Amino acid sequence: MPNPSHQVIIFLGPPGAGKGTQAERLASDHSLLKISTGDILRDHVTRGTELGLQIRPILDAGQLVPDDVLIALIRDRLASMEKVRVIFDGFPRTTAQARELDVLLEELGAPINAVPLLEVPDEQLIARIVERGKTSGRSDDTEAVARERQQVYREQTQPLIDYYSARGQVRPVDGVGSMDAVYGRILDAVK
Ligand code: ADP
Repeated sequence: MPNPSHQVIIFLGPPGAGKGTQAERLASDHSLLKISTGDILRDHVTRGTELGLQIRPILDAGQLVPDDVLIALIRDRLASMEKVRVIFDGFPRTTAQARELDVLLEELGAPINAVPLLEVPDEQLIARIVERGKTSGRSDDTEAVARERQQVYREQTQPLIDYYSARGQVRPVDGVGSMDAVYGRILDAVK
């Protein structure tokens, strides 16, 4: 029997769509834990852990970190949770990750509740990332790496839209407009 107090939301959308900011707000308004794999990986780089040293060149190139690394990270985060109340931001990013997440959630008895998909036109995405790069300190927030990240998204992550659409879980959300306007649309999409 699924535990009704579980709550699992997966934020999909291209780099620069604003997933992180919106997921943060949704998480704090609904007492959910936001799991941002980008933040977790960058934290390893900053702390100079063994993993951090290994993945730094991958992040800098805008490529994806290997699936087994991500799956181990997520497994670890979820293992200790009695109630699984999470928003995933930046995970899964490949079909292999999505399949593994299904297995993990099945083990925990926590089905996916909704998959909001933040949609923003390509040309705005690059502009947003370049603008963010002025203050983010992220070495991958340059125009060249941003373009690479978009390409990686199209090739490896977009197939997940079909993966979750086949189950009727995807809720497209227009990601253009003020933060508040977009947040309102997200609330409508996940309720
Ligand atoms: P954005 O959504 O703006 O691309 P993220 O913070 O989500 O930024 O991700 C930054 C980088 O971290 C990615 O380009 C990738 O190298 C790595 N990364 C994050 N999540 C994953 C994941 N699920 N699988 C593989 N690599 C990941």
